Amino acid sequence: MKDTHKHQGLRNQLVKVIAAKGITDKNVLKAISAVPRHLFMDSGFEDFAYQDKAFPIAAEQTISQPYTVAYQTELLQLKPGMEVLEIGTGSGYQTAVLIELGIKVYSIERQKELFKKTKLFLPKIGYKAKKLVFGDGYIGLKENAPFDGIIVTAGAPFVPKALLAQLKIGGRLVIPIGDDIQTMTLYIRTGEKDFEKHELGKFRFVPLLKEKN
Ligand code: SAH
Repeated sequence: MKDTHKHQGLRNQLVKVIAAKGITDKNVLKAISAVPRHLFMDSGFEDFAYQDKAFPIAAEQTISQPYTVAYQTELLQLKPGMEVLEIGTGSGYQTAVLIELGIKVYSIERQKELFKKTKLFLPKIGYKAKKLVFGDGYIGLKENAPFDGIIVTAGAPFVPKALLAQLKIGGRLVIPIGDDIQTMTLYIRTGEKDFEKHELGKFRFVPLLKEKN
């Protein structure tokens, strides 16, 4: 599968759609217009890649909706060179969007099959993450902490304490919290022991699961 002018045209349309839904960060929109989402989809779904929808990938997981990816990314308020931890690598699409923004990305995935597939795939299309880890997102990645930003791309029943502890002061954690429907929640670390908490829109993610391996 290639990336063609036609795909670029479809991406420009997609960017208009998500801008109309309220995404304003120019760099985020630019990243969405750059990442060839069709290459991240399972065969059979490529034709739908530039619809603003989530789709199934391997292991009963999903590639997040582009609007949701843009929304979470915008909330992180990133600058090139920052270090971000992603929980739930999945297809690697969100990872690629972060890399487009000049971010050093650490990402954790708990499904072995997906982890292996995405670890091979991302460098093949030119995206180099700082570190892709097979492990449990609930415990984060202590050895590379603290992070400027942490993004959780699965619905969490509660905010894992380890993730709050792995934020820099001034750092931001974006996490959807809830069971069937989640509230996008932004934590900003304002001091060693102080966090600001903002509850934002409602979303629907696949669940953040406890370790099974
Ligand atoms: N960011 C992904 C979204 C994938 S869906 C993308 O852009 O495609 C959420 C992912 O979180 C799934 O791949 C799922 O396997 C993973 N996941 C669920 N629980 C997890 C956990 N405890 N630790 C790490 N990853 C987890």
